[in-house]
Formats: sequence, structure tokens, C-alpha cells
Amino acid sequence: TVRGILATKGRDVVTISPNRTLADAALVLSERGLGALVVVGSPDEVIGILSERDIVRSVAARGPGALGETVGQNMTADVVTTVESATVQTVMAQMTDGRFRHVPVLDGGKLAGIVSIGDVVKYRLAEMESEQQALREYIATA
Ligand code: AMP
Repeated sequence: TVRGILATKGRDVVTISPNRTLADAALVLSERGLGALVVVGSPDEVIGILSERDIVRSVAARGPGALGETVGQNMTADVVTTVESATVQTVMAQMTDGRFRHVPVLDGGKLAGIVSIGDVVKYRLAEMESEQQALREYIATA
């Protein structure tokens, strides 16, 4: 489940306000080594998501001047989210269907974490390894 991933990676989410500029967002993404920022209105109220792709798309379309535009003008407002009880399988399907790599986690409508495609791959690898180990032990003792 999503809860299992958050238990390992933690529940901290780097957020940004919609009135900051894309230049500000690029700096945060670069400094924190992230691919996306959750855009919040009042604390923990998710109003959008801004990924590195949105910045690249805007600069490609309108040139470096786009870096002066606001996060609010360039974010995706229709955010697909999940909850802690959801299965990792469901989140993988959301990412594949929507072609994005980040899914914020909500708890009672409030931001409670984020799962990236990297987190999902890490979790699946660990799961596959422990499955393999269990099979090996089963064969050895059969
Ligand atoms: P990503 O692959 O996460 O870097 O994002 C690719 C595109 O999808 C960008 O335009 C993002 O704003 C958008 N996006 C990212 N995550 C989500 C999400 N959970 N729900 C909706 N759109 C998203």
C-alpha cells in the first residue's frame, strides 16, 4: 500500500505557493533534487502540481521570459491524488494512464505525502526480491 511506501520514505512534501515564479520553482526543484512541487493555497490544501516538464514546456514555447510567469499560470490544477490505504498497483496504474510520475497523498483532504515513480520502482524491486527469497527458501526446504 501507499502507507508502506510513506513509512519508509517519510511524509514530507516540498510545496510552493501559486504566486511564486517559475524561476523560483526551478531553483527549489534543483536545490532539493526533485521532479515536481505540490502547489498549495492555505497550508496543506492542494490546488495544483508543477513538474519540471511544465517549466520545460513553457520555456520551449515562450522562451526564457516564461521563467517570470507564475506557478499558478503553469501548474496542472486537475491533480490526481491517492490515499494511504490505496495499493501500489493502483498508483502505478494512475501514473501509467495519466502519463505523470508524481501522485500526492491526501488524508481527509489534506496533503499527507507524495509518491514518485522512483518510490514505486524501489518498493516493487524490494517486494520482488523478498518474493524470490521466499521461493528459494521454499524450494530448499521442500
Ligand atoms: P511528471 O511526469 O510528474 O513530471 O508530470 C508530467 C505532467 O503531468 C506535468 O504537466 C504535470 O503538471 C502533470 N502532473 C504531474 N503529476 C500529476 C498528478 N498527480 N495529477 C495530474 N497531473 C500531474
